[in-house]
Amino acid sequence: MQTDPNCIFCKIVAGQIPSFKLTEDAATLAFMDINPANEGHCLVIAKPHHPTLYDMPPELLAAVSVTALKVAKAVNAALKPDGLNLVQSNGPGAAQSVPHFHVHVLPRRLGDKLPLNWELKPGDRAAIAATAERIKAKL
Ligand code: 5GP
Ligand code: ZN
Repeated sequence: MQTDPNCIFCKIVAGQIPSFKLTEDAATLAFMDINPANEGHCLVIAKPHHPTLYDMPPELLAAVSVTALKVAKAVNAALKPDGLNLVQSNGPGAAQSVPHFHVHVLPRRLGDKLPLNWELKPGDRAAIAATAERIKAKL
């Protein structure tokens, strides 16, 4: 499998750094974002290291989409947001901060005024862990 020893998401895939894991299969992994833009913000990544969409094998993109659908439904069932965005960013102009392909599953609340390029602010770890349990209960 393609991997990059300096990549934070490759380290999460390898279990070298911890994450609040939601679900995984052979090709994909879903876990909570530690800088949540909103409660329930999570990420679905491809396990192999591909920096951007342009590098992704189509069948791996399909596998990430299947997991994103599953996680989005669980987030919707667990948190009942007013809406939900799937966001996928490529390159500095799109504010991509981790060059390992991933999709944000981003619950939305009416009036949250979240911009497309939101600011990264650390979340409360205990609150993130508790939200992860609520989402996992719907997976
Ligand atoms: P991007 O800015 O590339 O679209 O999204 C990268 C996301 O990864 C950001 O939302 C950021 O909060 C998240 N992130 C960065 N480092 C870590 C980490 O070590 N653990 C987790 N769970 N999320 C991370
Ligand atoms: Zn990587």
